[in-house]
Amino acid sequence: MKRIAGLPASQGYAKGEIVLWRSTSGLLERETGLTPEQEEEKFQGALNLYGVQLKDLDQALDSKPDVDHSQEREMIRVYQMFLGDEFLWDKVRKAIREENLGAAFAVSRECKKMCDTFSMVEDPYLRERAADIRHVGDALVNLLAGRKETLAAAVSSREDVVVVADDLSPMVTMQLDKTKLRALITEEGGVTSHTAILAKSMGIPALVGTAGILQVAREGEEILVDGNAGVAILSPSEEERNRFFKKMEQMVQEERIYQEVAGRPSITRDGRTIQVNINIGDQESLAGLSEACWDGVGLFRTEFLFLGRTEAPDEETQYAIYREVAQQAGEREVIIRTLDIGGDKEIPYLGLPKEENPFLGYRAIRICLERPDIFLPQLRALLRAAVYGNIKIMFPMVVKTEEILAARRLLQEAKDQLRQEGLPFREDLPVGIMIETPAAVLLSDMLAQQVDFFSIGTNDLIQYTTASDRLNERVQSLYDSMNLSVLRSIALTVKNAHKQGIPVGICGEMASESPLLPLWVALEVDELSVVPSQVGKVKYLIGHLDPEHSRQALEMAMKADTIQPVKELLSQLTAATRERTP
Ligand code: PEP
Ligand code: MG
Repeated sequence: MKRIAGLPASQGYAKGEIVLWRSTSGLLERETGLTPEQEEEKFQGALNLYGVQLKDLDQALDSKPDVDHSQEREMIRVYQMFLGDEFLWDKVRKAIREENLGAAFAVSRECKKMCDTFSMVEDPYLRERAADIRHVGDALVNLLAGRKETLAAAVSSREDVVVVADDLSPMVTMQLDKTKLRALITEEGGVTSHTAILAKSMGIPALVGTAGILQVAREGEEILVDGNAGVAILSPSEEERNRFFKKMEQMVQEERIYQEVAGRPSITRDGRTIQVNINIGDQESLAGLSEACWDGVGLFRTEFLFLGRTEAPDEETQYAIYREVAQQAGEREVIIRTLDIGGDKEIPYLGLPKEENPFLGYRAIRICLERPDIFLPQLRALLRAAVYGNIKIMFPMVVKTEEILAARRLLQEAKDQLRQEGLPFREDLPVGIMIETPAAVLLSDMLAQQVDFFSIGTNDLIQYTTASDRLNERVQSLYDSMNLSVLRSIALTVKNAHKQGIPVGICGEMASESPLLPLWVALEVDELSVVPSQVGKVKYLIGHLDPEHSRQALEMAMKADTIQPVKELLSQLTAATRERTP
């Protein structure tokens, strides 16, 4: 039996069988004891094999002549073209020979360099080729690392899988078969990385920052994952297994109680309604949910529609998706956030430059304002879809009023275009912004005059306020939702929004952190937006918390100079509320 600790990024318990995964970024410079000549031979073998695989793939398409395969064939043709690109592969050979690198590492490094070069060219067609090079590079690395299959294929071909990886991008995670996946464990990453958020949305536990697990875990080994305590147990003893199943049973019982209130309005004990919305990343997320269990959509992360594709969804595709969600929601609000790409949400085909500090760089509204070719189709799709429901639009990562004004100008341009084309759209689409930077917090009195609502994005707000990267496991103790500066920032934002008479919600992960709910009740936050599996718990706590105790806790948090006593009081309050379970 082996016990490994990590950071709890998504709660819950799971049992399964390990599938190991080392992403290309985790490749070692030299993994084997091979000579450079042998590495070169291995590399040539991978090139040949991949060539054969592409040919097989092409021929396999012939067996379904009644389906249109033009896109796949075009993709295969481009991959074959890169496979024949001796300029690139000579660089790999040179790196193996002269720098004594392992073949897999050399391929990965050289393809990445080439990708970066392509990403920076003006021509959009060439920029999009960056994704193709990455694909070819990843396929070769897979072959060289002896992987017969992709992670997605490995998960699909087994039952009850727990993926144990060095790192997982949101793009790779999205492609995993949800019916087979039971938990995710990574050595790297932070608790609000988008991979962790995806795990939460799937309702499975996740641990991040689980240092050293790849060294001890074996493929196919039995594993128990405790996402509440942040512990993984490999090859558990019988005793450990029994203890684990007892905890699981307890959780199921708690869940039952929460589910009973999930479909009711969320009203505090002093009679105030706090809307509990859900966060989604696509239209399918609504499919498995009970209709009554969500008061609205508080955050639709539209960039997830752009991940896992080889090209951007066009206006019509986006329009159909937004319309479907709006129709499903009926009168309920659907807050759709415009593209928030960048940071850990990389979209290779958009050909954006590689950056040293992506979270401080070119992302979200910054990109959209400079790329009307990406932004306008989305704005047009949103305006058109808003005819069918209660859509509201929200801009991410705002740091100054001018950005709102510029975004509004583009929104106006989209309206003018639609009017000229005679396409129906909603003229008075409400516009809100995310408050997720210290700049936005400090300007919130001014920004509130420009928009119809605020939604506080605490995942980013914590990282920018405490200067701690949300993906970096080494600074996760500083990336603390209860840093007093973060709590003060939220309080100031709520106060400024209400002074201006606009509603304010919280859509980051802090919205569903149990110990923080007394603060949201006392601050009179209007809306909380959480992953669907948390709705019941949040509504239950809102309905049972003592308002007077909540006010006292808020007062203490605002006056405190150290956080520990506040943390203790808040956990006591929520624990006491849970114990009052009927
Ligand atoms: C946030 O930053 O809190 C947020 C909700 O946006 P994202 O997690 O997608 O950055
Ligand atoms: Mg954010």
